[in-house]
Amino acid sequence: MLYLSRRIDFSAMHSYRIPEWSEEKNKQVFGLCSNINGHGHDYKLEVMVKGNLNHNSGIVVNTVDIKQLVGGIVEKELDGKFLNKEHQYFISHIPTTETIVGYLWDAIAPQLKDCTLHRLRLHENPYLFAEKGEEKMVTLSRKYHFSSAHRLHSDQLSDEENLTLFGKCNNPNGHGHNYYLEVFVKGDPDKVTGMIVDLGELDEIVDNIVLKKFDHKHLNLDTTEFNGLNPTSEVMAKVIYDMLAPHISNLYKIGLWETEKNYFEYLGTEEVSV
Ligand SMILES: [Zn+2]
Ligand SMILES: [Zn+2]
Repeated sequence: MLYLSRRIDFSAMHSYRIPEWSEEKNKQVFGLCSNINGHGHDYKLEVMVKGNLNHNSGIVVNTVDIKQLVGGIVEKELDGKFLNKEHQYFISHIPTTETIVGYLWDAIAPQLKDCTLHRLRLHENPYLFAEKGEEKMVTLSRKYHFSSAHRLHSDQLSDEENLTLFGKCNNPNGHGHNYYLEVFVKGDPDKVTGMIVDLGELDEIVDNIVLKKFDHKHLNLDTTEFNGLNPTSEVMAKVIYDMLAPHISNLYKIGLWETEKNYFEYLGTEEVSV
């Protein structure tokens, strides 16, 4: 089985509102997104399909065909539109990122030829995307930033072993990174609000539980969370998962970018190697 991906971009406007609700309640639930006149995004849609290699042509499916099919749907139905007003489905379903990705899955999957839809990832902006795979539930990823210092040093190893293993990262005074934290939640979009999670609430939880404790801090010296722990990104991903899990009922996984080159992920299940 081979997997291939094609990106299709489009712009669309939307507004998050329940017409039956008061202005006050819409504002309370949807925040800035409730503006009745709408706001817009430049969406990026990644379409991943899978299929078997055709040994005559050397391809699974022509990516131009995917571009034409998906681009056609997107251009006809979404691009340049105010979705709440101009799209039949989104007149009655709030066009959140997670609802749009579910709609696109149902629109695209039955029309593909010579391949199967494997994953759709819809980026609303660089800090938010929704993802739909072959399973029913949708995943939503929200990205946050913090800067911290740390020193990689394990109490379980000798000073010499630490220096050999961690090199300059073992510098007794520490060093720092621009961390990007991705919080993934998973579920079915709410039938009324179209949301898997209240983003305002999620932002507040992550800010209070994680960012306020770690941002512009020395993880070894200024926090209690890493007492006796070596603040590698692997350990950080696990610590952050454990900090957030009691507060986010549908938490799926934690992604941590230590730099643009190093990415770590923790799904809440630890396997200890010795
Ligand atoms: Zn929006
Ligand atoms: Zn480091």
